[in-house]
Amino acid sequence: MTSEKKLGKSTQAIHAGERQSSPTQKSGIPLLPPIYQNSTFRFTTAAECAEAFRDEESGYVYTRWGNPTQEVLEKKLAVLEAGEAALATASGMGAVSTALLTALADGGHVVAMENLYSATFQILSEELPRFGIETTFVDATDPSQIERAIRPDTKVLYLESPTNPLLKLIDLRASAEIAKAHDMISIIDNTFATPCGQQPITLGIDVVVHSMTKYLSGTGAVIAGAIIGQKAFVTRAKEGALRNFGAVISPFNAWLTLQGITTLPLRFARHCENAVRVAAFLEAHPAVAWVRYPGLPSHPQHELAKHQMDAFGGMITLELKGGRAAGEHLVDRLQRCALAVSLGDVRTLICHPASTTHSHVPAEIRQQIGIADGLVRISVGLEDVEDILADLEQALESCAP
Ligand code: PLP
Repeated sequence: MTSEKKLGKSTQAIHAGERQSSPTQKSGIPLLPPIYQNSTFRFTTAAECAEAFRDEESGYVYTRWGNPTQEVLEKKLAVLEAGEAALATASGMGAVSTALLTALADGGHVVAMENLYSATFQILSEELPRFGIETTFVDATDPSQIERAIRPDTKVLYLESPTNPLLKLIDLRASAEIAKAHDMISIIDNTFATPCGQQPITLGIDVVVHSMTKYLSGTGAVIAGAIIGQKAFVTRAKEGALRNFGAVISPFNAWLTLQGITTLPLRFARHCENAVRVAAFLEAHPAVAWVRYPGLPSHPQHELAKHQMDAFGGMITLELKGGRAAGEHLVDRLQRCALAVSLGDVRTLICHPASTTHSHVPAEIRQQIGIADGLVRISVGLEDVEDILADLEQALESCAP
């Protein structure tokens, strides 16, 4: 049979990692991977149980250590992100924190992109310093700033691209080369791009993390996360920080995420198709000051986007000419698009980062990195694009400055 790595993305999303054997004594293999909704596993002899403790590959012991439903999802994730192995976690932040705790097990210093999801920014700027781990934040869109921030004790380069919410891009190949040259582990949050938009591991990045709450599960039904990378790193994360700090995904959420991932390539293509139409509409609207979308020629890094990304995604950021008041007016007037944080949902979601997702980032830092008070973020959904445009049009009508 063809190696799963060589299959097309849609075939991988549907078939990769799925179990080929029957979980019962009878013939007939469940077409959908079954959900093993149990906390512990039973053994017939003490020797068998001891063996499972000694060699974890030989059996399941306890769901915080591993579970067959989690494992199907993990095999699929590894194939989709072109990694050796993967770990599913209870949330995106469970993945971010587990990856950081694993990479920084012996302490050290971090160089990170200055514009990150706010809880990640808080881990790096508030939580880890309590344990003696410092971070230098840089504008990593300029690789020379990464190079200049490296210290003798720097262990990790932490990135997002496209960033949340400014949709800035980082040259992943160049950044990965810098990290390798200095013996650092490079980690990227690939939530916005998904493996359908870019595969950072193929560009040299060591570790990918995801909030699977977003595009990967896709329906807004779960909170979940993932870590993908080399087997040695993933095993250390699984047997150390994940198991002991406990950010383990529940079998039910793993199963729901598995159902969502099967349609990821199809959904992502439609998110992209709708987003490019919405971005072009917004850019031409007189009430709009500017629009950022990596697929628009007006994006300052459009050339890098074309070079590094396979598709540009469903996220758009804009600012209205009327600033914060107009932005709030826009979200208040929308009828079909939902005022909600989160992203990557089948529904179009719109939010105001300065007062929601990025409200924990100090105001002066928001200003410094460009998260203006009037900024609005749209996660373009899968509705008929004409209906999304009509809703935006009626809401924007009264937003002119
Ligand atoms: N990473 C990014 C880029 C996000 O946007 C988010 C949440 O919005 C997270 C991580 C955290 O994910 P979760 O809410 O699943 O913990």
